[in-house]
Amino acid sequence: MKINNFNELLKILRCPDCRSLKIQEGFKTFICTDCKRNFEITDNKIIKMRPKNELPYPEIYNNQDYLKWKKVSSEAMLDYFEKGNRLFYIIILIIKT
Ligand SMILES: [Zn+2]
Repeated sequence: MKINNFNELLKILRCPDCRSLKIQEGFKTFICTDCKRNFEITDNKIIKMRPKNELPYPEIYNNQDYLKWKKVSSEAMLDYFEKGNRLFYIIILIIKT
């Protein structure tokens, strides 16, 4: 779907907090008319419409096997970039100094 202007976009936006479809354009903001929340528009094209409260992470993020895999994977990536690839090693040395 190609969006040509904000008016078309307003037809499909939904407030991430109260789920209302009543979103209006303000001055460099979109405003939910139900819960009165403002959503900033930066660079005239980026709309910050994140929910007020963070969503909980999926259960997998608390799984011990996943956490172990994540740690090993992270160490392997660091080894690869720092020791296995000369170009990245030089870049990392430059960044660290
Ligand atoms: Zn709302």
